[in-house]
Amino acid sequence: MSSSPVKVRFAPSPTGNLHLGATRTALFNWLYARSVSGKFLLRIEDTDQARSRSEYTRNILESLKWLGLTWDEEPWFQTQRFHRYKEIAGKLLERSQAYPCFCTPEELAKRREETEDPDHAYKYDRLCTDISPEEAQRRIDSGERYVLRFYIPEGTTVFNDVVWGQKEFDNNELDDFVILKSDGQPLYNFAVVVDDIDMKITHIIRGDDHISNTPKQVLIYQALGVKLPVFAHLPMILGPDKQKLSKRHGALSVLEYQNQGFIREAMINYLVLLGWSLDGETTYFNEEELISCFTLDRIRRSPSVFDEENLTSMNTKHILLLSLDERTRRIIPFLKQVGLIHEDNEPDFEWLKGIVSICKDRLKLLPDTILYTDFFFKDTIEYDEKSLKVLRKTNVTEYLTALKNSLAKLADFSIENIESAIRDLAGHFDIGAGKLIHPLRAAVTGKKIGPGLFETCHYLGQEKVVGRIAETLKMIPSLTPTTAPVSKPETV
Ligand code: GLU
Repeated sequence: MSSSPVKVRFAPSPTGNLHLGATRTALFNWLYARSVSGKFLLRIEDTDQARSRSEYTRNILESLKWLGLTWDEEPWFQTQRFHRYKEIAGKLLERSQAYPCFCTPEELAKRREETEDPDHAYKYDRLCTDISPEEAQRRIDSGERYVLRFYIPEGTTVFNDVVWGQKEFDNNELDDFVILKSDGQPLYNFAVVVDDIDMKITHIIRGDDHISNTPKQVLIYQALGVKLPVFAHLPMILGPDKQKLSKRHGALSVLEYQNQGFIREAMINYLVLLGWSLDGETTYFNEEELISCFTLDRIRRSPSVFDEENLTSMNTKHILLLSLDERTRRIIPFLKQVGLIHEDNEPDFEWLKGIVSICKDRLKLLPDTILYTDFFFKDTIEYDEKSLKVLRKTNVTEYLTALKNSLAKLADFSIENIESAIRDLAGHFDIGAGKLIHPLRAAVTGKKIGPGLFETCHYLGQEKVVGRIAETLKMIPSLTPTTAPVSKPETV
């Protein structure tokens, strides 16, 4: 496909780890770019040097990489562009679309207090517009501190938003906002426009908390005589308590979700549905499908609610959709993390695949595998309470002995042979197969529940199965019997 002129950007501030809200913004930008063969750029808005940290930048880049939201071109950093902000601010100054303001924060605070009006936010009173350009230059040259303010013109500011339709703002409601501080540091609404123009951004897709900033940005575009980009403001994501998504709602850094065992496919599928839908019905998408059907006009206006339970069921589904090879590859690091697998002594991949396959649809998170399969990797069994309860039942010794003998005799320890040996034995004792399956599972896994037992025995291997039954048989006599409930003697 030939590339289109569409260029979008994701512009996070590195003042924290990448959380879900911003990730959704990145995803929508990325999907849109990929869906029209446009470009997805990255801009790190690090002008707030007191709060910006390089480890947050690293976290943001790593999170995007994990999700596969690859960017085109090198990331832009605002701190490397101060010369450019100064240059453009100079242009606005020349054309009297900006002016220097020498009012100190103390003076401003005092005037704000004096004119306190509960219905209107304080607006700068334009005191410094009375200063002649010569006088202003003299004060600047003498080293007086000042800021540059944008001069809001009369009238109304209008822009079209793909999601919200036409938006109109009365310029009277806007303040002559600061664009540059005296130390050359640009302010958000100004820097963002200078960058978006230089980066040739055609579509600005971001959270709707920025709608109120947009008229100010539109005015700068107009002052500079540059065509407006297309705007699309995304609806908020709320927590289950319908409040703004925040730390209260659990681990919000994307990489923490990765560490918990969520997979990127699930994350992308879940996040895209927070604010967008194809037809209100289709729930599951893979990446290619999303790229082919994502359009901006299907973005909703209403806020969406983040629900970790739904994300988890999405994860279960997408884990199953992975090929067995891929699922196994992704599980291995979690097994290593808890020491079930060692770097220098990795088990056979085909065997691991077998173990992963028997977990079937039980895996909500990748490390759930540990819960269902840890006994495969251990040399000694640890019996849990429930399995001990099973092993205390009557006839268990007799059943396990028979099972041991019969399983030891199998020439081919295949899943089918194991199953028919157990079923034959159940017939021999004239009992349901469950009566044998429960103690056998307890004996070979140390647990009462787990993946299919015939498969479990197969992947454990004949030697281990027979050995573990023997070990359990030796252990059973040492089990203290569960105390039978003492019945009260009847009084006459
Ligand atoms: N740095 C801003 C933020 O993180 C970007 C806003 C924008 O996309 O214009 O919210």
